Amino acid sequence: MDYNLKSLKAEEFIHDGEIRDTLRWAEEHKSDLPLIRSLLDRAEDCKGLTHREAAVLLKCEDEELRQRMYALAARIKDRFYGNRIVLFAPLYLSNYCINGCRYCPYHGQNKHIPRKQLSQEEIVREVTALQDMGHKRLALETGEDPKNCPIEYVLESIQTIYGIHHKNGAIRRVNVNIAATTVENYRRLKEAGIGTYILFQETYNKPQYEYLHPTGPKSDYAYHTEAHDRAMEGGIDDVGLGVLFGLNLYDYDFVGLLMHAEHLEAVHGVGPHTISVPRLRRADDIDPDQFDNGISDELFEKIVAILRIAVPYTGLIISTRESQACRQRVLKLGVSQISGGSRTSVGGYAEDEEEDSSQFEVSDRRTLDQVVSWLLDEGCIPSFCTACYREGRTGDRFMTLCKSGQIVNCCHPNALMTLKEYLEDYAAPETREKGLRLIERETEKITNPKVKETVIRHLHDMEGGMRDFRF
Ligand code: SAM
Repeated sequence: MDYNLKSLKAEEFIHDGEIRDTLRWAEEHKSDLPLIRSLLDRAEDCKGLTHREAAVLLKCEDEELRQRMYALAARIKDRFYGNRIVLFAPLYLSNYCINGCRYCPYHGQNKHIPRKQLSQEEIVREVTALQDMGHKRLALETGEDPKNCPIEYVLESIQTIYGIHHKNGAIRRVNVNIAATTVENYRRLKEAGIGTYILFQETYNKPQYEYLHPTGPKSDYAYHTEAHDRAMEGGIDDVGLGVLFGLNLYDYDFVGLLMHAEHLEAVHGVGPHTISVPRLRRADDIDPDQFDNGISDELFEKIVAILRIAVPYTGLIISTRESQACRQRVLKLGVSQISGGSRTSVGGYAEDEEEDSSQFEVSDRRTLDQVVSWLLDEGCIPSFCTACYREGRTGDRFMTLCKSGQIVNCCHPNALMTLKEYLEDYAAPETREKGLRLIERETEKITNPKVKETVIRHLHDMEGGMRDFRF
């Protein structure tokens, strides 16, 4: 079996031999500093790097070049995403699961985790609590259980969520992180109005994948790995990739992740909308000693920076699995979306739970307002924008605008206007003060006079109670 970027067979586009050759080649060339300098020179044009080129950067141990990579990642981030950081929250709907994932406490053999599934009334309570925090964008999470958590339940829940309007609140984009499914079910998710379909590969190494997923539907490596292709076939434009760092050797997964991104671009004409970089956390009924592949904070930062260089147009997501300190460092290196105020238990927003059904321990436990206030201190614009998807700027339309650098004319003003909504409706007084000052400074930076005038008018209208302006 040969490596074939455009094949729809998992083992041909995630080709074990190609990954191993890449890692061998990168190891041999990691001290070839002129080569690495030339790759970094070329990456300045923001056209990205191949998996081979990125792998050699990952292996390179030269301190000066590492600093150059970080500076380049920061410049690329600035060029496409400016200082905006998009905020979202996960919403756990159900933790029923028939899989046997060795790292996840939802695995079917775990008999002491309380199994829960939100009723539609409970979803209203959860989403009301999320709206009261200020969230506009959610990522739905479920375990896999066709009987207890069928696709119809997920579809009904999405409809419920979009229908909840509490005070000035609204959830305007629902992303979905559920198990691999059929083209037909992806079509139904698309019709329900989802934003991104997110599915983490966990690990690209097939034998390791099969060891980690011994039972249940998720044990089928090919079905899981080919899910994003099916999602796109079902009409979903925006898909999200990710590996769970700490399960396998990081370098193998790093190369697999980039090969997957190249495959999607080659087959569908559009690469992944987002890449997530979760790291394994302690969890109920999981033996932490069985995983000794954890990666250090330093290596984690390097991975984020090189991903930013290799796939400049793909959003990078960091969750509250990471600490405030770690999130602070990667913000500068290319991350464009973070979660805030997250609960990883089913029903965790509306009430503090007596019985813990959480999936894993979060590390950053701050409230959303604390996260917003901190982002402002860091000179970032906390953004609650969901406009692209609502204006039909998805898939290749989004990528074309992003690659041409034009997206900034929408994103920057939209970030300011959605931040203003947050400040009017949800912020603590001190956050509000800081935020208003930032909006004033940032409005001055809008170069197009017509856009600037419109933004100033809308910001003013919001003080009079109007909401939901967007470009
Ligand atoms: N059930 C769906 C699936 O299997 O793809 C997705 C939902 S699951 C709630 C979301 C992700 O949580 C998984 O893809 C996995 O990467 C991550 N996860 C599982 N156990 C974890 C742990 N102990 N620490 C950190 N992340 C974990």
